[in-house]
Amino acid sequence: MTESCDAVIIGGGIIGCAIAYELAKGGRTVACVEKNAVAGSGSTCNSCAIIRTHYSTLNGAALAKSNYPFWEDWPGYLGAEDGEFLASYREVGCCYTCFESNGYGTKLEDIANELDIPYEVWTPAKVRAHLPIMNPGHFHPAKTADDPAFGEQNGEMRYVLFFPKAGYINDPMLATQNLQSAAKRHGATFLMGERVVDVLKGDARVSGVVLESGRRLLAPVVVNAAGPHSYKVNDMAGVTEGMNIRTRALRVEVAHVPSPEGFDFEADGLICSDADIGGYWRPEVGNKILIGSEEPECDPLDWVDPDDYNTEVTDQSRLQALRAA
Ligand SMILES: Cc1cc2nc3c(=O)[nH]c(=O)nc-3n(C[C@H](O)[C@H](O)[C@H](O)COP(=O)(O)OP(=O)(O)OC[C@H]3O[C@@H](n4cnc5c(N)ncnc54)[C@H](O)[C@@H]3O)c2cc1C
Repeated sequence: MTESCDAVIIGGGIIGCAIAYELAKGGRTVACVEKNAVAGSGSTCNSCAIIRTHYSTLNGAALAKSNYPFWEDWPGYLGAEDGEFLASYREVGCCYTCFESNGYGTKLEDIANELDIPYEVWTPAKVRAHLPIMNPGHFHPAKTADDPAFGEQNGEMRYVLFFPKAGYINDPMLATQNLQSAAKRHGATFLMGERVVDVLKGDARVSGVVLESGRRLLAPVVVNAAGPHSYKVNDMAGVTEGMNIRTRALRVEVAHVPSPEGFDFEADGLICSDADIGGYWRPEVGNKILIGSEEPECDPLDWVDPDDYNTEVTDQSRLQALRAA
C-alpha cells in the first residue's frame, strides 16, 4: 500500500508531535509514524521536563527565550478545546551554581544580558532565605561515593545565578499527546505502532519511508525525530557519513526521592543546575525531588543500543541522590 503526503515525521515524541502540529497548522499534509502504541512514550516520558531560558550558547538561549511563551500559555498555543485534559507548566525558577571551574557563570550572564533574559545574583545568605534546606557550600569536583573526600565541603559558593524564567512540565507525555491532538485538529495523521524500517531515496534526496507492515509513505520531506534512535534513521537514509555532528544513545538514571521531612519541596522548592555536585534537581509532583546527572568527569558514560539496554536501576541514581544530600 502506497500513500503520499507533504512530510513524513519519524517519531511521535515531543519533537515529532510539535513538528507535526506546526506543519499541519501551516497547511501541509503530514503523517507522523511512531513505533510505540502511544505518543510521548520514548525518552520524552522519562525526561525531567525542565524548561529554561538560560543556555551556554547564544543561539540556544535565543531559541529557548522565543519558545518560552508557548509553555506559559499552553492552552492558547494548542488552541485547546474547552475541558481538554492538558499538561501544565510550573514556573519555579532555577539556580545555577557558580564556581571557578565554570567561570563563575559569566558566560551565561553575558548571554542573558545580551538577550534581556532576567536573572538575579544570589549570595549564600539569599540562597538560604529562599531555600532553607539548601547548603550553598562548595563541593566541586564531583566524586564517587567511595572517595574518602566524598561530601567534604571546601568553603561556600561565592554566589549563584537565579533565573526566574524556568520551571518544569508536570507530565511530558501528556504534553506530547496534547500536541498530537492539536496536530490532528489540523488534519495530521498519526500511524501508531508502526516502525519505519527504511528510508526511500530518489534523485539525491529522500522520497519517503517503508514501514515494517509493508506500507510505503511517499513524501518529499522526511523528518528524523526518532530521539535516541535518530542515528539508526540516519544510517537508513545513508546520510551518517556526511554529518559533522552525530548522535548516540546515552543511558542515564534519575533519582526520585521524597522531600526532607517537614519541608514541602513541591510548593517551596526550585530547580538547581548544580554543576558543583555534577547534577541537577527539581521539585516533582507529589512533594518529591528529581535528581539528574550532569555527567561529571568521574562517572563513566553508558552508551547503549536504544533497542537493547539495561532498564534496571543501578547505583548511578543512588550516587546522584547522595551528592544532592
Ligand atoms: C533522563 C532525562 C532527563 C531529561 N531532562 C530534560 C530536561 O529537564 N529538559 C529538557 O529540555 N530535556 C530533557 N531531556 C531531553 C528530552 O527528554 C529530549 O530531548 C526529548 O524528550 C526528545 O524528544 P524526541 O521527540 O526527540 O525523542 P523521543 O521522545 O525519544 O521520541 C522519539 C520517538 O521516535 C520513535 N521511534 C524511534 N525509531 C523509530 C522508527 N524507526 N519508527 C517509528 N518510530 C520510531 C520512538 O519510539 C520515540 O517515541 C531529558 C532526557 C532524559 C533521558
